Amino acid sequence: MGAMAPELSVVVPMFNEEQVLPLTAARLRGVLDGLGVGYEVVAVDDGSGDATAGVLAGLRAGWPQLRVIRLRRNSGHQAALLAGLMRAGGRFVVSIDADLQDPPEAIGAMWRLARAEGLDVVYGVRADRGADSWFKRVTAGWYYRLMRRLAGGQVRAHAGDFRLLSRAAVEALRGLPERGPVLRLVVPWLGFASGEVGFRRAERAAGRTKYPLSRMAALAADSITSFSAAPLRVATWLGLAGMLLCLGLTAAAVAAFLLGATVPGWASVYVAVLFLGAVQLLCLGLLGEYIGRLYTAVQNRPAYFIASDTADDTARDVASGASADSAGVGWPAPMVNSRR
Ligand code: UDP
Ligand code: MG
Repeated sequence: MGAMAPELSVVVPMFNEEQVLPLTAARLRGVLDGLGVGYEVVAVDDGSGDATAGVLAGLRAGWPQLRVIRLRRNSGHQAALLAGLMRAGGRFVVSIDADLQDPPEAIGAMWRLARAEGLDVVYGVRADRGADSWFKRVTAGWYYRLMRRLAGGQVRAHAGDFRLLSRAAVEALRGLPERGPVLRLVVPWLGFASGEVGFRRAERAAGRTKYPLSRMAALAADSITSFSAAPLRVATWLGLAGMLLCLGLTAAAVAAFLLGATVPGWASVYVAVLFLGAVQLLCLGLLGEYIGRLYTAVQNRPAYFIASDTADDTARDVASGASADSAGVGWPAPMVNSRR
């Protein structure tokens, strides 16, 4: 970083992407070399167990702009993305999936738009989701509608994690105390001037999706609870409705008692007990969702661990090379320097 900051950093989180990686690298390189500015590609290897690390090492031999950050274990797409964003050094930082569903060609348009109009955020907006499955399209539609209601209209529908951020926006993100923010909600919430570039979401170029339904559901739950306490209010409204109902039923019970018709009533008691039990469990569950997140926040554990970063390695090589000449600079010194 520092004086040598590249104009553009492209962060690519990847988990077991050995199949698609050579294709992605070739297309990305074509686009980025064509821009004619200094750039770095920050590949974040999210604890892949396949040949991803080896493929990356091979690519690096012929592509000096490729930087590889390896996470110690698989931490998920959002955490890997965050790791790359926090370490990228460019004046503009673009994040893009490794599977070529987001076209690298749009990066140039994003960068030019940001520079021409002085924007801090440019969203890649999926103008056409024809390549997605019916199920993904429908659930994504619900997701973005709900998010716009909860997190506000500044959230762009169908803007995933293909976007450009300026250095200022990245620093603003870095300043947030949250450990694992849902980026596609937090970035609009930061309120920077933004624009968008439409693109056609393609099919995965190779390999299989790493986002099973369970992860999609977890992202949706995190998205809702990180921006809204509205579900907690469900309990309040259910309680109020229950009380009103209870007033009416009490009057009916007193009337029945006075009329001497109190013996039958098994069905109504049975249904009322079951219903109230279910409502109480539901409300407890909702409370639990938030308490669980409070707990996680209080633990304050990092969202990811860096195992290695080729940029650090080069910094250390350079620094230790210098220390051979200048006596007195011991081995730990370069580590201290690189942290400042
Ligand atoms: N990914 C990751 N860590 C994970 C899961 C996914 O870094 O634990 C990466 C993956 O390699 C890809 C991106 O996140 O570059 C999006 O994942 P994928 O394409 O599988 O999701 P989909 O497009 O099917 O929603
Ligand atoms: Mg994908």
